[in-house]
Formats: sequence, C-alpha cells, structure tokens
Amino acid sequence: MLAVLLLCLVPFAACAGSEGTPGGSYTEGDTTPDDTVPDDTPPEPEHPHTFYPRSDRVYHWQECECGEASEKIMHVYSGDVCEVCGADIVPSENLAFELNKDGDGYIVYNGTCTDTQLVIPASYNGLPVTEIGDEAFGDKYSFHSKDLRFTDIAMPTTLNAIGFAAFSYCKYLQSVRIPEGVTSIGDKAFQYCTSLVSGYMPDSVTTFKSFYPGGYSIFLHCESLTTVRLSANLTQIGIAGGLGDIVYGIFSYCSNLTFIDIPDKVGLIGWLTFMGTPIESIVLPASLHTVFQAYLEPTEAIYYKGTEEQLSQIGVSFGDLFRHDPAVYYYSETAPAQEGDYWHYVDGKPAVWE
Ligand SMILES: [Zn+2]
Ligand SMILES: [Zn+2]
Repeated sequence: MLAVLLLCLVPFAACAGSEGTPGGSYTEGDTTPDDTVPDDTPPEPEHPHTFYPRSDRVYHWQECECGEASEKIMHVYSGDVCEVCGADIVPSENLAFELNKDGDGYIVYNGTCTDTQLVIPASYNGLPVTEIGDEAFGDKYSFHSKDLRFTDIAMPTTLNAIGFAAFSYCKYLQSVRIPEGVTSIGDKAFQYCTSLVSGYMPDSVTTFKSFYPGGYSIFLHCESLTTVRLSANLTQIGIAGGLGDIVYGIFSYCSNLTFIDIPDKVGLIGWLTFMGTPIESIVLPASLHTVFQAYLEPTEAIYYKGTEEQLSQIGVSFGDLFRHDPAVYYYSETAPAQEGDYWHYVDGKPAVWE
C-alpha cells in the first residue's frame, strides 16, 4: 500500500522518462474517453532495482533511487536506537509522564505534544515507559476530542499496556503496530480512528483490559480499516452477555473490513462484534464454541479449521453464520487426496485447493 503510494508520488524519471497524466480529455456531457490517445502507462523499469536502507522517525524500509520501495516497518526499540536498522530513536517532546502505582515505570500521556509522527520514548527519568495511559491521546467522547494530528506512532517494546480510549478519535492515525510485550489493550482504545487502515496485535496480547471480560469497542467505527492481525493468544473476542446499556463490539461499524482471521485459541466471539461490518470471508478456528449475537454472517466464505461435525456444533445465538449461504472450506495443510472443499494458507491468506 505504502509502496504503491510512493510510486505514485515520486516522479518516475529514472525509470519511465515521463510524468504527468495521460492526455485523454473529457468534457461535460461527453463520457467516452478520447480513444485516439495512446495508453501512456509507464513501462517497466529498465534497471534492476538497487535498494538502500531508509528510515524516518517511525519507520524503516528499503528504497531504490527510482522510488520503488518496500513496506514501511515500525522501528523496534527498548532504548535509543532501533534494534533492526540502527537508526537513532528521536522521541517526541512535550509528552507527559506519571509514575505507575508500583513505582517501577512510567505511564505516558500526550501532554502538549503536537508531533505528526509521534515517537514514544522507551524510558523516562531512568525508568522504562510501560503504559500508554487511559485517554492518553484520545478521549472517550468526541466532544472532548484532543484533535491531535499525528498520522503515525512508534511505540517501544518496554510497553506492557495500552489504556482505555488511549487513541479514541485520533482521526489522522493511519496505521498502528502494537509492539511485542504489550499484554493488554483497553476498551475503546482505537475507536473512531477513521483513517486507520491497518492494525497489528502481537502474540503477547492475551487480554483486553476491560470493564467486561472480552473487551468492547476497541476498533468501533474504524471505517478505513481493511487489515487486522490479531494475537494468537486471545481466547475471547467481545463480551459474552447482553447488557442493559449498549456497548458496541470490538469491530462494530468497521465499514471496510471484509476479511478477518480469528486466531486458533478463540472460543467465543461476543456481543455485536461485527455489527455494521461487511464481513465477506472469515477464518474460524476449531476452538470456537460460541458466537453470541455477534452479527457474524459472512456473505462469501468460511475457512474453517475444524471438522464438519465441529462446525455444526458451534452455538450461535441471535444470528446465523450461514444466512448468506457462504461457501465452507475445511483446512488441509497438504493437497487433499479426496474430493471436497479444502483450503490452506498462501502468503498468510486463505486459498482454496483446486
Ligand atoms: Zn529502481
Ligand atoms: Zn528501524
């Protein structure tokens, strides 16, 4: 995605020798393109790419002089330099810190920082920074929104928790990679991050730091979200019971989220998890036993990791996994010997065995 953007933004001088847009002209009321203008698509580069390491405050990546670039990856750090690329980490200034209750680390808050690339330091006053505080950069209510303009954030591996509504209504945040070491994420942590395209949750996350077991509203109304990677150690996604007041699900109203891979230990998908979210296809683990009013009604495919019998035993309340008659595929690591509908992973995505 970023590589594609870069390609669009950086003139293709070295490779294509042309810039600007094709000359096809359109006028009001004339909806057919001028087909006498030749296709002006840039040709393939005439050189083998030579990639050089690049970095900014948040990411490292590889880039050729022509602009061709690899995906940007967040720096990995627990000190002053990135452990992968060696770049100096330049923390944001004007953040605020509060000693945690054990007195062995600091909780970070926005303070008066206005950086557009936010960099959380690994330590403060000689102690590690261990938490992003409750409502640290966000607020649970839109009318209290801090209106921060940061688009990217680097977080150190010293963190172990992300607080309640920590990034709620951070409307400019485009991607988030929670560092390895974080074990819990608070309710509403990223709700209404309407520019957020991708989220990554490491396997160290085992729980949602939640008022209700299972968590709620963490990615509520993340309307640009298309890619989410969940921790393999989650056992529950969303809460198990109906409540007096409305508490939205973790992925409610993610109006561009069409695919998700539910990790292998999840037993329950709870209350309103996918309400307003157009899931087309989903990977479901054999461990799944309950789908509780989750609005999980995939329209195209279920990639299942258990047997047909296990699938029929999943308890589904107030909804129907099969309402839209999705294709069902069963997991087979190697090419299946018998006829049937089987799938496996190719580059981390489900693919049907032909
Ligand atoms: Zn090149
Ligand atoms: Zn780096």
